[in-house]
Amino acid sequence: MTNPITTNEATAYDQQFELSLRPQRLSQYIGQAQVKENLQIFIEAARRREECLDHVLLYGPPGLGKTTLATVIANEMDVNVRMTSGPAIERPGDLAAILNALEPGDVLFIDEIHRLPRAIEEVLYPAMEDFCLDIVVGKGPEARSIRLDLPPFTLIGATTRAGALSAPLRDRFGVLLRLEYYDEAALTEIVKRSADVFEVAIVEEAALEIAKRSRGTPRIVNRLLKRVRDFAEVLGDGAITPAIAEQALSLLQVDARGLDHIDRKLIEGMIERFRGGPVGLDTISASIGEEALTIEDVYEPYLLQIGFIQRTPRGRVATQLAYLHFGYELPDQT
Ligand code: ADP
Repeated sequence: MTNPITTNEATAYDQQFELSLRPQRLSQYIGQAQVKENLQIFIEAARRREECLDHVLLYGPPGLGKTTLATVIANEMDVNVRMTSGPAIERPGDLAAILNALEPGDVLFIDEIHRLPRAIEEVLYPAMEDFCLDIVVGKGPEARSIRLDLPPFTLIGATTRAGALSAPLRDRFGVLLRLEYYDEAALTEIVKRSADVFEVAIVEEAALEIAKRSRGTPRIVNRLLKRVRDFAEVLGDGAITPAIAEQALSLLQVDARGLDHIDRKLIEGMIERFRGGPVGLDTISASIGEEALTIEDVYEPYLLQIGFIQRTPRGRVATQLAYLHFGYELPDQT
């Protein structure tokens, strides 16, 4: 059975649900106080000058609200947002067409911007700096470059790994914002807001329990809430009580720290096969049959954050906290 929390296949119903849950304004965007405070000032300044907002790079683990924030920024600036992603743009011409179709002031959101091929990145440089496109027409000795003007726009790039962005691209963003994992209070707020949108009654402690098990991530909070709601409807009277939440979460195999069967497989693999490490990412990946990139982008950041693994120059190491949490005896230090 696949774990509903980690599967990427959202149903159309789920997607609709996601849409209705997305905050539309900065005031509805919960948590990330520092990011919001900065943005508020940059947005206000740009509005006063009647200019577009400088290009923004949002980075941080998946599900923390980068796409949501791009929409919020566009709403606050009163402009349209066009959404695309690095892997979706295959040729320089694709990007040129997207840029050409922008209206003055629009926000262009490029998700997974670190996955843009280099040749396409180069189209972005003059577009970001001078709002123009350099197009080569003709071939061989006849080839010449012509410059096309673009309307001023704001590029918002999102990436899970700022380090994977080329330096020339990173340097062209005026605003760099790092999204952090959310604390329990913010996640509890999000659970309550989402339950409200969903018109389901929820007891405060149940909201807190869901928040605690959501690895600091709003996307996971919302997924867990949806599944817990199913249990509440079938097993109870529809209201989400602490007992229902507890029961649902353990049936979903999400443990008290929000770790699921893949985290468990990862840590148990490190402990049982590599004596807790140090072990290289590719070796772990091969031994547990999960893609190295998925481990690095999705699982590892949270395990690092809660101190269950450490990165050392010689590889990853499982910490004492991880041994204790998964019920292992601590290794002999001698
Ligand atoms: P990312 O682009 O970083 O992967 P998303 O913007 O798609 O993340 O956010 C995932 C989900 O989490 C959204 O559907 C939204 O409902 C919810 N969400 C994200 N950030 C917030 C927030 N600050 N407040 C409330 N809900 C949020």
